Amino acid sequence: MVFLLNPLPYPISIKSYISISIYFYTFAANKYNERYTMDKTNILKGGEFLIKETNAADIFIPEEIDEEQRMIEQTCEDFLETEVFPNLDRIDAQEEGLMRSLIQKAGDLGLLGISVPEEYEGFEQSFVTSMLASAAMGSGYSFSVAYSAHTGIGTLPIVYYGNEEQKQKYLPPLATGEWAAAYCLTEPNAGSDANSGKSKAVLSEDGKNYILNGQKMWITNGGFADVLTVFAKIDNDRVYSAFIVESGWEGVVINPEEKKMGIKGSSTVQLFFNDVKVPIENLLGKRGGGFRIALNILHMGRIKLGGTVLGAAKRAISQSVNYANERKQFGQPISNFAAIKYKLAEQVIRTWVTESAVYRVSKNIDDMINILLEEGKSKQMATIDGIAHYAIEAAALKVFGSEALNYVVDEAVQIFGGMGFSAETDVDRAYRDSRINRIFEGTNEINRLLVSDTTIKKSLKTGFDVVRYANSIIKDSDKEIEEVPTGNYFEEKKYYVRNFKKTALLLLGTLSDKFDRDFLSEQEILFNISDVIMTVYGAESTLLRVEKLQGMKGADAITLNKDMLDVYVYDSACNINKSAKDAINSFVEGEEQEIMLERIDTFTKVAPVNIKDARRRIADKLIDENKYCF
Ligand SMILES: Cc1cc2nc3c(=O)[nH]c(=O)nc-3n(C[C@H](O)[C@H](O)[C@H](O)COP(=O)(O)OP(=O)(O)OC[C@H]3O[C@@H](n4cnc5c(N)ncnc54)[C@H](O)[C@@H]3O)c2cc1C
Repeated sequence: MVFLLNPLPYPISIKSYISISIYFYTFAANKYNERYTMDKTNILKGGEFLIKETNAADIFIPEEIDEEQRMIEQTCEDFLETEVFPNLDRIDAQEEGLMRSLIQKAGDLGLLGISVPEEYEGFEQSFVTSMLASAAMGSGYSFSVAYSAHTGIGTLPIVYYGNEEQKQKYLPPLATGEWAAAYCLTEPNAGSDANSGKSKAVLSEDGKNYILNGQKMWITNGGFADVLTVFAKIDNDRVYSAFIVESGWEGVVINPEEKKMGIKGSSTVQLFFNDVKVPIENLLGKRGGGFRIALNILHMGRIKLGGTVLGAAKRAISQSVNYANERKQFGQPISNFAAIKYKLAEQVIRTWVTESAVYRVSKNIDDMINILLEEGKSKQMATIDGIAHYAIEAAALKVFGSEALNYVVDEAVQIFGGMGFSAETDVDRAYRDSRINRIFEGTNEINRLLVSDTTIKKSLKTGFDVVRYANSIIKDSDKEIEEVPTGNYFEEKKYYVRNFKKTALLLLGTLSDKFDRDFLSEQEILFNISDVIMTVYGAESTLLRVEKLQGMKGADAITLNKDMLDVYVYDSACNINKSAKDAINSFVEGEEQEIMLERIDTFTKVAPVNIKDARRRIADKLIDENKYCF
């Protein structure tokens, strides 16, 4: 507990970081286990938010992050302050060895081991804590991409799927930063259709090695990674197997760095595998199990991306308000202008909503992992299954978070005006760097399809008859249409969110029914439905956070949070109304169409809110504080 008595002096040397880290990590791990005892009955399973209500008391909100967790966050932030922000131009110029040395320094501080068990030199933390670290590191521009690729898709395949020998050999140097990692799935002709790759592995005559041939593309950290998870098909298998490959082995060829629009400092290369001898011990998981590994790692990557964007968004908001307060036009700071206040408030709202959803699902994952552990699963299987459970939320957060950040950085450039277009300010970098988030970890199109498709599949699996439910909404309207609760702020908001869910279920059920579950080519409709589902999740997570906050801090302390909720629910109603009608008008006709449009209007009716004043109040607080403060 020594570190608690010695608050970090800043700026702090790397040496001090290390000694503090050692105390800190052990202590934090123990504390976490003590604190997080859960009530199994209240755990919301993946996708269940659409059919179940959650009590505010049962969700985790970022305001519950404790002092020890904040210390990890602070360590990440200080690392960026000392090592990354002063060197952004050098990083983006890909100065020889710089990014690699930053990974090493992060490893020296223990920051690479947050998901690696202690026996392999890590300091494994809960999913919530690892999310907090990802969010903090998320403001690190290209470094954040290198860090995420190393600690996430690079290292986790071995953490989750490695056997004992593989973990002993590879995890310690990856946790300490002695080695760097990359994940090699994409090929020139296999992007979104990832399993269609041609990379091939054939057993050598002596049976000791797989001979690997193939080409991988767009590999983050590929220019300097020592350890690669490579997906290739054995013989003529239909699905991938996964292999741990060392980049120093003969036959691994690294192409020059790609020239990119953004994240210029992150290494992105093509890799060629020419008759590379991969020892049979380096098959990861089972033969043919590679695609499952790839997908499960991507679920995790997607959820984490939802967190990573938070750091980037908060930094861009702070820069926006700093500039708006400094820049004078027409004799006054531009932050006085209502048009600028609108942008600032909207930046805050979208970030806060994303954050509410990110921490809600992160704690659900921790709880699910604990349940699976109690049921006797190994830590590896419990973690894989625990994360996979929330595939719908993962895809939703990936889309939601990347689009929120795109909005934030786009408006940051706008607030900076001409200076935003200049390469002299960081918002230009933030704008360019943000764009990749809609493309990697599965494009937002693929993830939108996943949200609605997986929801329908899950409802079938769990026995929730979405078609019958939709029919009951259409035919038995009285049962589904409730009175608006009046006089209780949260009850009223919950009523709206319940109605938003009914809209989503109405769409899902009607689509399943009409297309006899063969609707995958109806992508526009699936996108509309996904947009509704994602909005529901954002609205409910925000509502529950504000309600829980009121219990923690009292009504007077949450007036601005209520403003955010008011604006978001109001906007959600309008957006859901449009998405739902766009969907229905695309495949339902006649009397049925009329009834459905009427139902949609009923379910998306919310009391009027003065959103102009609400946004101004949020912006005024931000302007007063001159930094992100929510
Ligand atoms: C900077 C960068 C870093 C990356 N890092 C890695 C890495 O470390 N490891 C790795 O393995 N990969 C990595 N990738 C690859 C990334 O995951 C892919 O680029 C992404 O999955 C999309 O594949 P693609 O580029 O081939 O696009 P395509 O699959 O060709 O897609 C092109 C367009 O068509 C759309 N589309 C495709 N299929 C469908 C469909 N069925 N329905 C509707 N629309 C569809 C897409 O949404 C997209 O808009 C990286 C990419 C970049 C640019």
